[in-house]
Amino acid sequence: MASRYPLKKQIPLQKKVKYLVIGQGLVGTWLAYFLQERNLSYVIVNDSKQASASSVASGVINPVTGRRMVQTWMIEDVMPFAVASYEAFQQKTNSKIVSNTPVVLIHPSPQMKDSFDYRLAHDNVYLKTNNTLDWQSFFNTPFGTGEIDNCYWIDLIPFLEAGKKHMADHFIESTFAFTEFKIVDEGVQWKDILAEKIIFCDGVNSMQNPYFKALPFAPNKGEALIVAIDGLPAKHIYKNNIAIVPWKENLFWVGSSFEWQYENQDPTKAFKQKMMTALDSILKLPYQVVDHLVGIRPANTERRPFVGLHPSYPQLGICNGMGTKGCSLAPYFASELINHIELGEEINKEADIARFGPLLV
Ligand SMILES: Cc1cc2nc3c(=O)[nH]c(=O)nc-3n(C[C@H](O)[C@H](O)[C@H](O)COP(=O)(O)OP(=O)(O)OC[C@H]3O[C@@H](n4cnc5c(N)ncnc54)[C@H](O)[C@@H]3O)c2cc1C
Repeated sequence: MASRYPLKKQIPLQKKVKYLVIGQGLVGTWLAYFLQERNLSYVIVNDSKQASASSVASGVINPVTGRRMVQTWMIEDVMPFAVASYEAFQQKTNSKIVSNTPVVLIHPSPQMKDSFDYRLAHDNVYLKTNNTLDWQSFFNTPFGTGEIDNCYWIDLIPFLEAGKKHMADHFIESTFAFTEFKIVDEGVQWKDILAEKIIFCDGVNSMQNPYFKALPFAPNKGEALIVAIDGLPAKHIYKNNIAIVPWKENLFWVGSSFEWQYENQDPTKAFKQKMMTALDSILKLPYQVVDHLVGIRPANTERRPFVGLHPSYPQLGICNGMGTKGCSLAPYFASELINHIELGEEINKEADIARFGPLLV
């Protein structure tokens, strides 16, 4: 029998927040962490089945780059900010994430040794000599060794897990899809969430984003092996033509490739063979390959981030394009984006998507 007092039609509940963050890789984690630190309301949505460059990266912050061993872009600003942020994060989340981990350079050729020696004598901030004898029981060192002193290693899997736990009350495991999204007067709506701003931190998936796909992304494929090496000290990163980076316990991350052109996102036999040949030629210890990882770096040919609000829809923002340097750039530019929105501060002009304004409108 029908009730004499029918229930009013249910109005769907809407959760109102200031920020809706899409993606919990390095960038989304930092953005959400800083929002929480500043008491700004937010929800973060992540689909753990989607590709995540952050979960396969080696986690190195190295201030020196290339054959000429020059300083990386903005390192003097970005590295101190990043290190202080990771240290604060680990204190807050009671985790062990960041460690000062010098790079031992095992010179692969006389030319690279010359390049090291030249930089040591000219405008050097980060390089120092070391005692090659200390490394000879682990590696063949026909051209000697050197060291990059001020490097950091970020243990990324625990970082992502600690971040997820820290933001558990704001975290939704789900796929963000534009079919469930609309722009509304108050900002944006996704499912039952109403937000003043949505910030896309979804890595290479932003290339399909109808509002931001015109940004000149150039995704880059990288592979790595996880290798068990008993007896190799895990307090250093080792670099020859390949990098050997602590991963966990007796496991090391060995890589990487850097491919602008690739057919698919699968691991390749050629890469595995190349790494094993390189390991055979430098490593004196036995090793065993236990895993093969692949990731796609959200890169671009300019090698500068994509940070800012859409020129026509200021309720939509993006923090992306960290390329090979997500560990150092993500905290810095996530913070810059929040300062831009909340305090009206400028975003670094080389990173601000305003430089692509005509492409986006
Ligand atoms: C092999 C390799 C080695 C690397 N080594 C280093 C290194 O040593 N140091 C360094 O600084 N950088 C390194 N990088 C680069 C670094 O990994 C990237 O710069 C960084 O991870 C980019 O972070 P991100 O948050 O922008 O993207 P991602 O890490 O890709 O995160 C995107 C997130 O969004 C989520 N997502 C995507 N689409 C959706 C959707 N529709 N709905 C919900 N969630 C979604 C994904 O699940 C993911 O969690 C390396 C990269 C690779 C591939």
